[in-house]
Amino acid sequence: MFSSEQAVAWVRRTAVVIEEHATELTKLDAAIGDGDHGTNMARGFRTVIERLDGLPTDATVTAVFKAVSMALISKVGGASGPLYGSFYLAMSRSLGEATEVDDAALAGGLRAGFDGVVARGKAQLEDKTMIDALHPALEALDAALADGKELGGALDAAEAAARKGVAATIPLVARKGRASYLGERSRDHQDPGATSTHLIVEALADVVNGR
Ligand code: ADP
Ligand code: MG
Repeated sequence: MFSSEQAVAWVRRTAVVIEEHATELTKLDAAIGDGDHGTNMARGFRTVIERLDGLPTDATVTAVFKAVSMALISKVGGASGPLYGSFYLAMSRSLGEATEVDDAALAGGLRAGFDGVVARGKAQLEDKTMIDALHPALEALDAALADGKELGGALDAAEAAARKGVAATIPLVARKGRASYLGERSRDHQDPGATSTHLIVEALADVVNGR
């Protein structure tokens, strides 16, 4: 099971790790984009935290992710704000009005979030974007849950798959976003959005596993 409290804890942990890695994310984006991914994400998640503080203590899982989405859409310039906003919004919409959802519903919510990102950004796998980390994570999560693993173990598998997905973006040529303007010169660089997606998945695994 996954509760609203865990949802809030996940988002708070995400804000902390994004802040810790903001310089790294910005550096990655400076190499193949415009060098703002870390500042974009840090600014967005600072606003997210402010909005969370205004939520009632009995907020539903849906309400938590809706608040995250609205904050990111309104505060993050660039491609990643609307894309991550779409992720949390689609996840929120798929979850229904409950303060606790089961593992399959959470996995379904994450999948709906992925579909939201794709609907918004029209990226395909191996275009060197955030979905190159998110997709393998969700495949690993579904496979582990289907194998009967508990949520914590399944999310650890998802985190490992996301990490591999990030590394796999390095040799790719970008076909979406600013990095695509570089063509071949985008090769041999790690995608910043895939890197932040891995941090988000890792934060979820850590919170669910009580780390
Ligand atoms: P911007 O590129 O507008 O400066 P950011 O630097 O915040 O925005 O985010 C860049 C990241 O956004 C990229 O590393 C990539 O992962 C992701 N991205 C860009 N375009 C798309 C897209 N169409 N679909 C999915 N992800 C994308
Ligand atoms: Mg950028």
